[in-house]
Amino acid sequence: MTTESTADVVEPTVAQLVAEKLRDIPDFPKPGVLFKDYTPLIADGPAFARVVRDIAGRYAGRTDVVVGIEARGFILGAAVAYELGLGMVPVRKVGKLPGETLQEEYALEYGTAAIEVHADAFRPGERVLVIDDVLATGGTAAATCQLVERAGAAVAGVDVVLELGFLGGRARLGDHPVHAILTV
Ligand code: AMP
Repeated sequence: MTTESTADVVEPTVAQLVAEKLRDIPDFPKPGVLFKDYTPLIADGPAFARVVRDIAGRYAGRTDVVVGIEARGFILGAAVAYELGLGMVPVRKVGKLPGETLQEEYALEYGTAAIEVHADAFRPGERVLVIDDVLATGGTAAATCQLVERAGAAVAGVDVVLELGFLGGRARLGDHPVHAILTV
């Protein structure tokens, strides 16, 4: 008979947890795209907490405010901001923010998209942590970094749960520190 002691239980790394909890949805939102769905990850309390603490741990004392990118970045961004005791600024699709905004356009595979931030969202020189669920082509994150800098703040880092490394998005982010919990 074997007995199980707590020493036998090996806790998964945060990257293993992410790999286990992300769900692949083929052909969403259009044919040919393999969508990486993080709703099962954030629906799991301990897994969600692990990811939030992992990100927060990288930036404690090194950031003043957190940016969440619409829409999935809001969920994680708000949780990380709360964990760090910081405020959270939303970067949104055009037409959603009520105050005066700065807007940044960026290229998509076909056509362009644009995002906005409130023009007065940051104090001069504030260090900003940018958060999203997935770094794909990097267009959205790069445009967000432009907005942060145009608004007079500085990018402390870009943190994502998952990086699609084969799309090379990191290269569009210049010298900004980029961290992905898991890269595929
Ligand atoms: P990007 O191409 O890096 O600008 O990604 C655009 C936005 O779409 C980001 O906010 C990502 O979260 C999301 N996104 C892009 N590709 C995927 C994917 N395969 N699965 C899930 N989300 C994605």
